[in-house]
Amino acid sequence: MGELRQIAIYGKGGIGKSTTTQNLTVGLSEIGKKVMVVGCDPKADATRLLMGGMMQKTVLDTIRDVGEDLELEDIMKTGFGGIRCVESGGPEPGVGCAGRGIITSINMLEELGAYTEDLDFVFYDVLGDVVCGGFAMPIREGKAKEIYIVASGEMMALYAANNISKGIQRYAARGGVRLGGIICNSRNVDNELELLKAFSAELGTKLLYFVPRNNIVQRAEINRKTVIEYAPESDQANEYRSLAKALLENRDFVIPKPMTHERLEEILLKYGAGEQ
Ligand code: ADP
Ligand code: MG
Repeated sequence: MGELRQIAIYGKGGIGKSTTTQNLTVGLSEIGKKVMVVGCDPKADATRLLMGGMMQKTVLDTIRDVGEDLELEDIMKTGFGGIRCVESGGPEPGVGCAGRGIITSINMLEELGAYTEDLDFVFYDVLGDVVCGGFAMPIREGKAKEIYIVASGEMMALYAANNISKGIQRYAARGGVRLGGIICNSRNVDNELELLKAFSAELGTKLLYFVPRNNIVQRAEINRKTVIEYAPESDQANEYRSLAKALLENRDFVIPKPMTHERLEEILLKYGAGEQ
């Protein structure tokens, strides 16, 4: 058993953080790794595919209903592959800091002894175009030391990834937080692989893995399953297994060097606009 790796997954909303994280963790569980997923998006759908479609009651809602005197089983459920699932939750839209649920959850998990010795990985699935306030909690509190950004070749996804890198750079200067790489969740943009490689290199990191776009992801989702559970023999299932392996073996952790908006546009123009 190795040392516990606590990993935060960042990226623009809708880019595929939760889908990718859940499939990736099933890939890790298949090779015997013990994993916990902590959903840190107020949307509270970060563990849905692992829980067979059940929308898990969030930590904040549980506290609201029964108070702070909780058992670990009230907030942590076991999903597919033995993966431990937690949803932080958030306040009603527009009311209060959306990051508060994350702080409360992490504290509660700690208090209730969720960070057990046998765990190999904890994943924090965090919303955020900008790593601000509450959304920086998993890295600010010194929990997650390792970060991956999910992006695609779409301009807004790269823009968000660059912004997130600015946040990481700030926290890295003070603590041990490092960027482990970029995960491309493909949108079938022209020259996407080259674009993402160039973008990652400019940030001083690498493209950890390129996940192809495939409609089997939707089919699995409708059936409330990860792709690995729904279609274990499929090519897409194997892509997620390879992603899990790439992450498992990754040892390249850097302080990112965010680029200017002008430089980002230059890179987009060079690769994205089809100058082959
Ligand atoms: P996020 O957690 O970043 O908000 P989700 O993981 O919920 O994003 O993904 C958004 C949508 O994109 C989901 O409905 C999912 O089915 C779809 N999706 C994610 N990854 C892929 C992929 N590789 N191929 C096809 N569809 C995908
Ligand atoms: Mg999500």
